[in-house]
Amino acid sequence: MSRRTFIAGNWKMNTTIDEAVDLAKGVVAAVGSVTDVDVAVCPPYTNLSAVAEIVKDTNVKLGAQDVHWEEKGAYTGKISCAMLKALGVELVIVGHSEQRTYFGETDETVNKKVAAAIAAGLGPIVCVGETLDERNGGNMETVVERQVRGAFAGMAAADVFKCVVAYEPVWAIGTGVNATAQQANDAHIFIRKILADMYDDDLAQTIVIQYGGSMKPANAKELLGQSDVDGGLIGGASLKAADFAGIVTPA
Ligand code: PEP
Repeated sequence: MSRRTFIAGNWKMNTTIDEAVDLAKGVVAAVGSVTDVDVAVCPPYTNLSAVAEIVKDTNVKLGAQDVHWEEKGAYTGKISCAMLKALGVELVIVGHSEQRTYFGETDETVNKKVAAAIAAGLGPIVCVGETLDERNGGNMETVVERQVRGAFAGMAAADVFKCVVAYEPVWAIGTGVNATAQQANDAHIFIRKILADMYDDDLAQTIVIQYGGSMKPANAKELLGQSDVDGGLIGGASLKAADFAGIVTPA
């Protein structure tokens, strides 16, 4: 089973519009013509439009960092799938641990967002991952299984095929402490096992599963070299074009 490597940058709440333009130009210059790896950047909402212009006609795809599941209406502060689509956005991160921790994201809201994104023709990057306490308490599998089953509850295989999963252990995000290659690979194999149980082996072996959590040029090659690690969702190291490029094409 050959799965394409997919590296996506999550810029989080970083970059003013000028900074985003500079960073996007740097990413396009460094990896815009790479064809053997799928690449995406996910700037803040305010910079999507400007970055869309820069990545247009390159191999760099545009993603958003969140979306609301409702189509329109009285949801102050929220952004709909249609609004993203109209800007040329193709992908959307859903269920990031920072959304879960700080903004009340639950498995149920993740499920609604994934369904809405797919219905609108956006490709969800669905984030799952355990906290340090959960891992140390021996509950990594329980937590990740609950999140995976929750995210895809009630969804047809044909729709889940359109998703990417990002395994992001919370203890590795922004800490400088990445999961070992073995820990990451084991978790990815476990996620495929859940998907095989929910759907079938074909889906489980076809779906792209990114690893996220302090991935950087120095550890990318080893992590990406694992059998079941198909890419990376990159936070901090996506804010410098050279570092991001060093993950897309690790030395
Ligand atoms: C993330 O927030 O998705 C992430 C992986 O962050 P970092 O690379 O900074 O750990």
